Amino acid sequence: MTNAQPKASHFIGGKYVEDTAGTEIHCVYPATGETIATLHAATPPIVDQALEAAREGQKIWAAMTGTERGRILRRAADMIRDRNRELSELETLDTGKPLQETLVADATSGADALEYFGGLAATLTGEHIQLGQDWVYTIREPLGICVGIGAWNYPTQIACWKGAPALACGNAMIFKPSETTPLCALKVAEILYEAGLPAGAYNVIQGYGEVGAKLVTDARVDKVSLTGSVPTGRKVYAAAAEGMKHVTMELGGKSPMIVFEDADIEDAVGGAILGNFYSSGQVCSNGTRVFVHKAIKDKFLKRLKDRTEAAVLGDPMNEATNFGPMVSKAQMDIVLGYINKGVDEGAKLITGGKPADRKGFFIEPTIFANVTDDMTIAREEIFGPVMTVLDFEAEEEVIARANDTQFGLSAGVFTKDLTRAHRVIARLEAGSCWINTYNLAPVEAPFGGVKASGVGRENSKEAINHYSQVKSVYVAMGPVEAQF
Ligand code: NAD
Repeated sequence: MTNAQPKASHFIGGKYVEDTAGTEIHCVYPATGETIATLHAATPPIVDQALEAAREGQKIWAAMTGTERGRILRRAADMIRDRNRELSELETLDTGKPLQETLVADATSGADALEYFGGLAATLTGEHIQLGQDWVYTIREPLGICVGIGAWNYPTQIACWKGAPALACGNAMIFKPSETTPLCALKVAEILYEAGLPAGAYNVIQGYGEVGAKLVTDARVDKVSLTGSVPTGRKVYAAAAEGMKHVTMELGGKSPMIVFEDADIEDAVGGAILGNFYSSGQVCSNGTRVFVHKAIKDKFLKRLKDRTEAAVLGDPMNEATNFGPMVSKAQMDIVLGYINKGVDEGAKLITGGKPADRKGFFIEPTIFANVTDDMTIAREEIFGPVMTVLDFEAEEEVIARANDTQFGLSAGVFTKDLTRAHRVIARLEAGSCWINTYNLAPVEAPFGGVKASGVGRENSKEAINHYSQVKSVYVAMGPVEAQF
């Protein structure tokens, strides 16, 4: 049995810390169902220790120059790249995602964020506003203590996407990973500390939702960034509002991908596969409602079926495997429930639809056609390898149907008609969009949703606005003119 047991459950103030009084968290390897590590949720004294360490660490960190901060973040990025294989294997153990994916999409993406925001750190300045003889200058300040709360699909990436901009701006972070994937963020914390981050500037504490809730309601916390589902987002946003805290909400989706009749069929099929089956469908921005023009439906479905049936489902540690298990038994059951609903509500099963015949939480990549807008599988986020293909005939019609959802995370358009691509994408209610590709999320581009899918943006220069605030200082050069 693989042992991925960390030295202790939490990383606080530059050290591994344990309190076995906390509720046990069993980390299960999704490919086998074996428990590979047991950790403990943070107790109130651990939460308190993390908050105090963050307060101390933040003072030291914020007093450094942006250049010094940036150098440390970039050093951490280099260390992550040097240790990519080890970190990718841990990511695979934590999530079950195939090593073929984790080697290129997780630690590497985390390193990109640390490098990018490390580069920006020295450039974060205020401005000078001349007003005749007087002037105003602005100071870009950190917020203070930021809390990051993660989902289970990208534990390394989420820990870095939240940590890197927070740290670049001079904040401290307390990151609470998902209870389902507690391992990877501890490595991120360890590496940041080794790279030179002051003790307490980046801490990781474990726990279920209640630990997250405790952090969100603590008066010492200035900002909360959540990656999770819409129902959790509503709770966390409301609790943060009570304390007037800054928030970033990266939530769920049911995103449309529209394939027009002139699209390159191979590219569109490739986009649909990337946007539905990468990470076994456990990606928030997935284009799970694939609208295909009636004129090309049969051709599209044939290629989609053939290519999907070529997926190599198996041991995630084997680099030839390109399709892994669901993260947990609970998620597997949710997804199988949706597949049954799809069949019951009359969708046509094209391929897949059942668990794979092996241990672990594997479900075959599943495609439904003849899906209608009112079906449950077309309305609710499934978060598994279930693609729904819907037919359409006209541009206006498909735009209205694509937007008819509470979600607004992502959208994609496949067409060779340049003006149509831009015209349609401009009218889709979504934060992160693609033309003739899907799900690429480089750190240079803003990422986030509209409507119920979220508030704020991660990555790019946009993220700086969500991890800093601006103080304005008016400087008078003449006498004070009071009214009496
Ligand atoms: P979840 O909402 O169940 O949990 C997310 C995190 O919130 C976990 O760490 C959990 O412990 C914590 N939490 C739960 N209740 C809480 C509370 N009351 N207060 C504070 N924290 C609380 O989500 P999940 O099942 O881990 O992840 C899947 C969801 O995440 C999907 O909806 C997916 O779309 C979304 N997601 C979004 C993005 C994005 O960037 N938009 C990325 C990945 C995943």
